[in-house]
Amino acid sequence: MVLGNYKSVVAARSTDNEILKGAQDGGIVTQLFAYALEEGIIDGAIVAGPSDEPWKPEPVIATTKAELLAARGTKYTLSPNIALLKEATRSYGLDRIGIVGTPCQMQAVRKAQLYPIGMRDVPDKIALAIGIFCMENFPYQSLEAMVEDHCNVKLESVKKLDIGKGKFWAYTERGAVAQIPLKVTHKYEQPGCHVCLDYVSNLADVSTGSVGAPDGWSTVFVRTQNGENAWGKAIAAGCFETKPIEEVKPGLDLVTKLATEKITKNQKTLEARATFGVGKGLRNPYI
Ligand SMILES: Cc1cc2nc3c(=O)[nH]c(=O)nc-3n(C[C@H](O)[C@H](O)[C@H](O)COP(=O)(O)OP(=O)(O)OC[C@H]3O[C@@H](n4cnc5c(N)ncnc54)[C@H](O)[C@@H]3O)c2cc1C
Ligand code: SF4
Repeated sequence: MVLGNYKSVVAARSTDNEILKGAQDGGIVTQLFAYALEEGIIDGAIVAGPSDEPWKPEPVIATTKAELLAARGTKYTLSPNIALLKEATRSYGLDRIGIVGTPCQMQAVRKAQLYPIGMRDVPDKIALAIGIFCMENFPYQSLEAMVEDHCNVKLESVKKLDIGKGKFWAYTERGAVAQIPLKVTHKYEQPGCHVCLDYVSNLADVSTGSVGAPDGWSTVFVRTQNGENAWGKAIAAGCFETKPIEEVKPGLDLVTKLATEKITKNQKTLEARATFGVGKGLRNPYI
């Protein structure tokens, strides 16, 4: 249950070397959107594109492969992709929207589809929602402190940021590698993440992350009929190399362990909120 409903799960990576070069993991997000654009499954994708500040994402609507390539890689800070959802159907004129996001952003997409408050035209225009796994996120000032103060590396010299094997990693353009233990980063987490009960984007059409798969590969859950149609066609077109998840290490056991840890910990935070004050609790959005 902690992994949500899904039709299939595999380890996969893109077969396109250009995509793989700057991708965070197996390039699943960029490759699947690039294929979906080419095939007319979507006519644009809301992604976390670059901005004027290093590693600060700006949501953009990508309608070309070049724009998708420019948005590769994980930015460990907030990218309000949902802010473009309505506009995508207005000035951008999209009829088939692709969107990538964290589990909370996938929840926002589904909520807008079921309860479209101020979201006219949006519900039937979501063509492909790709969710990424997410343990926690960080405000931009936090990211600056983690990279510049703790890793002692300038944000503009960073080529890749990653969280894995219990550490936060910063790789620079000139080949230096800095790392700090996650116990140092905890205080910088976005407080709202502490009531989040979804690790693997349970509500996406297709969800993907690095955990479970070897380096350079991704774990991919295909969850909905929509997702299965797009994924099946992309596989048939040779976009991805796949391996059964049972044949890779560490596999689903680690994904299940981390999902259970996140949910158990955050469930406790939610319970504590109920008795936070004297005879008075804090709001619980789930009830
Ligand atoms: C805050 C955060 C926490 C994460 N935590 C985990 C984790 O605990 N375990 C795990 O396995 N994976 C985690 N991931 C996901 C992982 O880092 C990769 O994003 C994912 O595996 C996709 O890799 P890819 O090679 O398929 O994507 P790529 O082809 O490199 O494309 C990445 C896509 O993600 C989008 N993106 C980047 N940053 C953001 C953002 N902040 N918000 C919304 N969209 C964004 C980009 O626009 C791009 O389209 C996390 C991601 C984020 C943003
Ligand atoms: S931990 Fe949850 S609330 Fe925080 S960014 Fe990730 S999905 Fe969203």
